[in-house]
Amino acid sequence: MTEPAATVTVRVPAKVNVQLAVGGPRPDGFHDLANVFLAVGLYDSVSATPAPAPRLTVSGPDAALVPLDESNLAVRAARLLADRHGREPDVHLHIAKDIPVAGGMAGGSADAAGALLACDRLWGTRTPHEELLALCAELGSDVPFSLTGGAALGRGRGELLTPLETGGEFHWVFAVADGGLSTPDVYRECDRLRQAEGRGADAVPEPEPDPALLTALRAGDAAALAASLRNDLQPAAVSLRPSLAETLDAGLAAGALAGLVSGSGPTCAFLVQDAASAARAAQALLASGTCRTARPAVGPAAGATLV
Ligand code: ATP
Repeated sequence: MTEPAATVTVRVPAKVNVQLAVGGPRPDGFHDLANVFLAVGLYDSVSATPAPAPRLTVSGPDAALVPLDESNLAVRAARLLADRHGREPDVHLHIAKDIPVAGGMAGGSADAAGALLACDRLWGTRTPHEELLALCAELGSDVPFSLTGGAALGRGRGELLTPLETGGEFHWVFAVADGGLSTPDVYRECDRLRQAEGRGADAVPEPEPDPALLTALRAGDAAALAASLRNDLQPAAVSLRPSLAETLDAGLAAGALAGLVSGSGPTCAFLVQDAASAARAAQALLASGTCRTARPAVGPAAGATLV
């Protein structure tokens, strides 16, 4: 018999939504989505070590913004897996946090997927992949994609995934804002703005993926992808945080092919031609004073991976 490892570490990527088409509010409060996810190379690492009682620690520049109590998605993930296997969640989880917190890049979801995989390996519970995906969906709409990574279309509230082919790498710069935006607040603002424009729930079409965007992804064609980027939550995020309009302008002035708010924001994502353009755009964005940091990253990135 092999001894279980003393510590298991899993690396998990952030995501950007290259298309986020949002339907009207459903009776359960969620919205139907056509959500095209792309995993990008900004990572959190989640380590799981045996411990006499559950414990969570977080490191990284934004560690103070991460809740350490039972509301932490990584803690909830460990508990859910332990319950499923009828055991105690006696584990020390450590999150090395590099994904912006409340930034619209699914950082909490990444930690949940990382904790599930790390604990499953540490405890030797050998949960089948399909069951891990179902546990992910219980934890949150974006968690299944954090596990799988790459590129995928998410239907339903984003949790029903179909993997998508990508024909190459796409270069991005992420302009990270000071402070976060609450995802539920942004959806509420989206509904409010639509009502105010006379587009109530019945007037919002079924969200559908854009064929031109899927073709651009498949071809690895950055210019074509830039022309079809779309985020229905962007007007709501800009309404709640008007300074994002300046960040978006600064990214275009810095030579980006296109820019959009990442998910519910406030991080802004800029698609650029290549690595050199990414480095130049990141510098120009920082110099513009319209963001806290600017981070180049490449997608697609692999999903949750044991390291
Ligand atoms: P999404 O893109 O999935 O909407 P997000 O990237 O905007 O999410 P997160 O970083 O996941 O936002 O954090 C949203 C909130 O979730 C935080 O403000 C925090 O209170 C809570 N949270 C719970 N667990 C975590 C975690 N492990 N890391 C960060 N935030 C967490």
